[in-house]
Amino acid sequence: MRIDIQNIINGEEFKISLKENISMNLLALETKELEFTTPIDINLEIYKVDKASLYVNGTVDYQCIDVCDRCLNAFNRKAHENFSGKIIEKEEQEEYEDIIFYHENGKIDITDMIKTVILYNLPMKTLCDENCKGICPKCGQNLNEKQCNCEINDIDPRLSKLENFFK
Ligand SMILES: [Zn+2]
Ligand SMILES: [Zn+2]
Repeated sequence: MRIDIQNIINGEEFKISLKENISMNLLALETKELEFTTPIDINLEIYKVDKASLYVNGTVDYQCIDVCDRCLNAFNRKAHENFSGKIIEKEEQEEYEDIIFYHENGKIDITDMIKTVILYNLPMKTLCDENCKGICPKCGQNLNEKQCNCEINDIDPRLSKLENFFK
């Protein structure tokens, strides 16, 4: 979906507000795919600061199937992201500390914007629950479901995850 921001570039309008539901099925990342379980809510305001500068701020709400880094179970992850960034013309290059969005001939692709926001805010660690107990490094039992009887000697948890990966 594209929105036209020509009026704001021309200075005929100072602000554009938008509230939309966007259906997206999958977002392929380098390491995994996010499968969205509901339409994505985007709420935004685009405004002009001076002659040359356009900014946007807003929120993106989404729910997707993700995989817990600790117990490896798939779960429905809900996310609410606040974002703000600068909008520049596609060919321009700019050094900027925040996110940059591009418009092409006065049009912005909202789907691209959503993808950028999701990627930018992706959690470093995905957990099904803050208190997720993970899996037993020996038998692979999901310790959220039940305790196993393994005796654990000190294995580096990072290695144990790898070990499990190769089972
Ligand atoms: Zn978990
Ligand atoms: Zn075990």
